[in-house]
Amino acid sequence: MSKTIIVSNRLPVKITEKEGEYLLNPSEGGLATGLGSIYRQGYNIWIGWPGIEVHEDAQPGIREQLGEMNLMPVYLTQEEINNYYEGFSNEVLWPVFHYMAVYARYDQVYWDFYYQVNSKFRDAILEVAEPGDVIWIHDYQLLLLPGMVRTSLPDVAIGYFQHIPFPSFELFRLIPWRAEILEGMLGADLLGFHTFDDSHHFLNAVTRLLPVNASSNVVLVNDRAVVAETFPMGIDNNKFELLSSDPEVLKQLESLRENFQHTHMVLSIDRLDYSKGIIQRLDAFELFLQLYPEYIEKVVLYMIVVPSRDTVPKYKELKETIDRIVGGINARFRTMNWHPINYFYRSFPVETLSALYNFADVGLVTPMRDGMNLVSKEYIASRINNTGVLILSEMAGASKELIDALIVNPNNIGAIARALYEALNMPEEEQARRMKPMRQVVSKFNIAHWVKLFMARLQEVKLMQQSML
Ligand code: UDP
Repeated sequence: MSKTIIVSNRLPVKITEKEGEYLLNPSEGGLATGLGSIYRQGYNIWIGWPGIEVHEDAQPGIREQLGEMNLMPVYLTQEEINNYYEGFSNEVLWPVFHYMAVYARYDQVYWDFYYQVNSKFRDAILEVAEPGDVIWIHDYQLLLLPGMVRTSLPDVAIGYFQHIPFPSFELFRLIPWRAEILEGMLGADLLGFHTFDDSHHFLNAVTRLLPVNASSNVVLVNDRAVVAETFPMGIDNNKFELLSSDPEVLKQLESLRENFQHTHMVLSIDRLDYSKGIIQRLDAFELFLQLYPEYIEKVVLYMIVVPSRDTVPKYKELKETIDRIVGGINARFRTMNWHPINYFYRSFPVETLSALYNFADVGLVTPMRDGMNLVSKEYIASRINNTGVLILSEMAGASKELIDALIVNPNNIGAIARALYEALNMPEEEQARRMKPMRQVVSKFNIAHWVKLFMARLQEVKLMQQSML
């Protein structure tokens, strides 16, 4: 019987270590939930890195425990994590794919490790894969893997989905190993991207850099038809709708109401990342307070920054800059009873996020570049009363679907400040007129729908290939 193999850099599990003892907890991210319907069935399996360096003696035991959850580990050494993950993935691919190419470090050692770790993932797949299986590979850490698997299993069905943007050709061509990357990706039968522009950029790079024939969204690779298409990823909208009436969330909502009785809340939630436009957002909020001083003591920016990659120098620098700017704005505008920015550098349980999504008058999401941006969709899904206003960057994949948001250019500080004013003054009818269709989009194109659509399309592509033989 054929099975489905999911492959991603990280397994959907959190492992913590205390004095040589390892604790396993399933993680609750949207993707893990969406793919849960697949990997938990029958002999299906999810292959990935467990997220920490596991001591050699403990590896077989953990492998067995993970096996009971249909998970299979690829163990990485600290050197591999440094060079493949933090190095090539996060210091080459991440900046170039997010249009911040000046931050990239094209280090040959990074590439060598990237190749080596992708081969390690291939070996793990080959331990369990059989002809007839379906393999679904996720994201930019594993761009070479489809090609590596294809060489060993020529007829197997391989899907690839990219969760981050694919940049325009002029950016992509900067990468010294650009042709090898595309050849790796073309090992897949179906390549999925969040937006039409991403799939178009990918196809453009392929036709300009490789001697292949392509028409429309189909590329011929050794007579095998490879399809690139758009699959905007959704969220587990039910979870956020239900959370809005969860007792713990209601309790936290009540205390937010008490603490912010006469104050509007503008909510900002991101991981620490230079792609998120946090500095420009702070500048825009400062300008807003300058332009509209009547909002002094009447509005707070509630800003959560989730720690991320803070061993990478660029991220450390960013954190320090944010700290400094927040301090400056609070010192400049605060009064005896109020300060304009409530800033948190940590992560919160989903109940707290839900209470904030429910309470905030405005969701302010202004990345410089974002593959999709799930926070914007979670804000929408939580607004069960159809109130609230989303301000959304046109550089987020989500802006292609959430067209009733106030769409802004994240570099246009003045436009963001004016959008804040417009949002805070928007009549409730207009809020509802915009919120309702966005809630419908988020509800209909949810994560389960996305998984179903991708898998069905992969099957269709395989059938099309067979009919071309
Ligand atoms: N998130 C979280 N804990 C927090 C704040 C955020 O788990 O304290 C989640 C949030 O609910 C969302 C995800 O982190 O699902 C961020 O996804 P997004 O696509 O917005 O950005 P990414 O971090 O993937 O670039």
